[in-house]
Amino acid sequence: MDQQTIRKVVIAGGGTAGWMAAAALARQLGPLLDITLVESEDIGTVGVGESTIPTARTFNALLGIDEPEFMRATQATFKLGILFENWGEVGDRYIHSFGQVGKSTWMGGFHHFWMQAKAQGFGGELGDYCFELKAAEQNKFFTGEESPLNYAYHLDAGLYGRFLRGMAERDGVRRVEGKIASVRQRSTDGYVEALVMESGDVVEGDLFVDCTGFRGLLIEQTLKAGFEDWGQWLPTNSALAVQTRSTEPAVPYTRAIAHKAGWRWKIPLQHRVGNGLVYSNAHMSDDEAKDLLMGEIEGETLIEPRLIRYRTGRRRKTWDKNVVALGLASGFVEPLESTSIHLIMIGVTRLMQLFPFAGVSQAVVDRYNRQADDELEKIRDFIILHYKATERTDSPFWDQVREMDIPDSLAQRIELFRQSAQVYQAPGELFQVDSWLQVLLGQRVTPQAYHQMGRLMPPQQLKQALDDLKRNIAGAVTRLPQHQAFLDGYCAPPVSRSA
Ligand SMILES: Cc1cc2nc3c(=O)[nH]c(=O)nc-3n(C[C@H](O)[C@H](O)[C@H](O)COP(=O)(O)OP(=O)(O)OC[C@H]3O[C@@H](n4cnc5c(N)ncnc54)[C@H](O)[C@@H]3O)c2cc1C
Repeated sequence: MDQQTIRKVVIAGGGTAGWMAAAALARQLGPLLDITLVESEDIGTVGVGESTIPTARTFNALLGIDEPEFMRATQATFKLGILFENWGEVGDRYIHSFGQVGKSTWMGGFHHFWMQAKAQGFGGELGDYCFELKAAEQNKFFTGEESPLNYAYHLDAGLYGRFLRGMAERDGVRRVEGKIASVRQRSTDGYVEALVMESGDVVEGDLFVDCTGFRGLLIEQTLKAGFEDWGQWLPTNSALAVQTRSTEPAVPYTRAIAHKAGWRWKIPLQHRVGNGLVYSNAHMSDDEAKDLLMGEIEGETLIEPRLIRYRTGRRRKTWDKNVVALGLASGFVEPLESTSIHLIMIGVTRLMQLFPFAGVSQAVVDRYNRQADDELEKIRDFIILHYKATERTDSPFWDQVREMDIPDSLAQRIELFRQSAQVYQAPGELFQVDSWLQVLLGQRVTPQAYHQMGRLMPPQQLKQALDDLKRNIAGAVTRLPQHQAFLDGYCAPPVSRSA
């Protein structure tokens, strides 16, 4: 074991990953560390990453962030899920909400009762039994002590970075502006010793957090950690991002609209809308993608569309020697389920839990990497599901993903559901049973059989129970305010929405 005491932490990169790491480390371990963040305004950030999942609230709570203040500062709106359009087939729509569907028992999920009801000619839509889903459909939202809605945020990525930077600097993080020209390694073992800036300044450290984005300046360009490519399962590799003025009240969900070679996102913020087209450039040219995006967005554009090229996969080691990679430097699965910011949060949380105060030990590094690998693989499978389980036959892209071989782990899950309607959340897995269920059904995976526990109830009793549940949810949704009206009262900035 390397017995060097670790006190000086250097974060390379000041995008969302860098400032999340800086803010969390400073807030939680500040008195034990000396933290410096190096970033270059000339290089800038990736400038996207505006849709989150509910764990963002856990992170905010960890940092003691006041929600209305955070929402004002980042022009955030609330998010109850994602509306998927045209995925299983052109014209299909389903919401993957953050809510629970119905009431499950120890023996099995609620959906088995629902399937029994459907077989008997009643039961309605599965979504009728999910509070978040019904609220999203009707653009309703409320948060407060007595509100059980599970939610996340849409936020302005640039403003989020600025907000976190303010917090981190107040907590003592030192910021160094400028380009890193080279990385100095210890001759004995290759550990990183310092970042050498273009100005000639040298930033020394004991532990380095690589948040330099796709380039992975330390983890890849210096340590050559290696990259495992997942392009065979997730073939999109390009995105065009553009911002527009809002033309309508903000809805409490992200839209993910499939097109012939990928999908388009629409993320409503308080002051504008984030739009983007994700595509495979083997199936659609950049010009075609730009025409498609510009033809479909609504409202005046605020910036020129920006092209982002990416590679889907992960670093073979996200922690190597004394370098821990976070954010895009650690790998990337496309943004369909808004998981990247969550992975930064989990990564920095795990780093704090395993922090190597007495020096980097291989056992700790291995533990960190194993957990990171496991989490990302399960997220990868969940995202592949959206492509594989489709009945679209209208383009070479959809033919390719429909026919592709998929990881065994996912193939087994799909088969399990198809044969028995059984769904599960594996240990340490982000996506819960209700997420798998909503997406499997939304993508037209139809179970051939289900658990028969619903037959233990007389049909009339089952119908009564389902009707009561449905009525309670519908009533609760009716009492919620409109999302935009709630936002206006809760956290609107002192300027008009269209400004
Ligand atoms: C198209 C697309 C859509 C996405 N949508 C979502 C989403 O909806 N939800 C979600 O959770 N995630 C999303 N993501 C992921 C999300 O954008 C990133 O996880 C997040 O922004 C973190 O990026 P980063 O900080 O790792 O990298 P970057 O933002 O690229 O930051 C890199 C930093 O390193 C600095 N740097 C690099 N090289 C040097 C150098 N030589 N010297 C000094 N500084 C340097 C840069 O200046 C910058 O500050 C999306 C990603 C893409 C590509």
